[in-house]
Amino acid sequence: MPLAPFGFALHGGAGFDPQHDYTPQIEQLRTVTAQARTQLQEGAAAIDVASQAIIAMERCGLYIAGRGASANAEGDYELDACLMDGARGTAGAVAALQGFKSPIQVARALMDHSPHVLLVSQGAARFAREKGLEPIDDPSSWFTPALTGESFACADAGGHGTVGCVVLDQHGHLAAATSTGGLLHKYPGRVGDTPLVGASTWADTQVAVSCTGHGEAFIRRAAAVQVAHRLRFGHGTLEEAVAAVLADVQSANGAGGLIAMTRQGEIRASYNAYGMKHAYLLPDGSIHAAAR
Ligand code: ASP
Repeated sequence: MPLAPFGFALHGGAGFDPQHDYTPQIEQLRTVTAQARTQLQEGAAAIDVASQAIIAMERCGLYIAGRGASANAEGDYELDACLMDGARGTAGAVAALQGFKSPIQVARALMDHSPHVLLVSQGAARFAREKGLEPIDDPSSWFTPALTGESFACADAGGHGTVGCVVLDQHGHLAAATSTGGLLHKYPGRVGDTPLVGASTWADTQVAVSCTGHGEAFIRRAAAVQVAHRLRFGHGTLEEAVAAVLADVQSANGAGGLIAMTRQGEIRASYNAYGMKHAYLLPDGSIHAAAR
């Protein structure tokens, strides 16, 4: 029996700066989680709730996803996003996308309306244009970088974070979605873990996972799908699987965190970084939200 008829967890990225006031981020996490709760109560599909939650997070400009994304070393904004529908086993992703307001919408359109899983750069932008998705006319006025400064790695800098969610709907279907501008001052063309199915984002019939942190380490350890494989092949509980995967990421010199949700409605929000902005629904329907 599920712990609850549905479930929802959201993260706003790894990293925590004790000098920083995260009240606006926490409020936003609460607002988006409350919206997801309403949609799930009304019977919405997990993949739709995931898409809409990430669109809201991309739009708000408080995180390094979507509007709040940081520029790369050349001052350009190259965005990564991925989502996965656990019930259908389908996924859509974009990497190094420029010129569109919602990378997760482009990823969703790719999943729904093409035979492909991942498009990059100009191909992703061309697809978004063909699908009539909302362009950015003037990047300098659209982007409001949530993180600025000299630090290369947002997970170290207490940055405002990648965004991601995991969802269980009333039909027992799971979905996961993740979106980011990537690491501050990243090398042009650098693709992190976020748009890679199995590295940062995974959903199947048993578990959904969304990761944040040093992307290269999450790629090297196939972190998101590793959680699923540990459960599938009987290597312990969700808590044990998540702890083992984060230890594995750490062994690749990676700091970060992840959220995970099982088909039974069990949730984990864990990190080996200084913190991770996150929120989730408790079994009584109330919302837990915290910066660490
Ligand atoms: N994982 C992201 C990347 O490496 C960054 C982050 O989650 O903070 O692009």
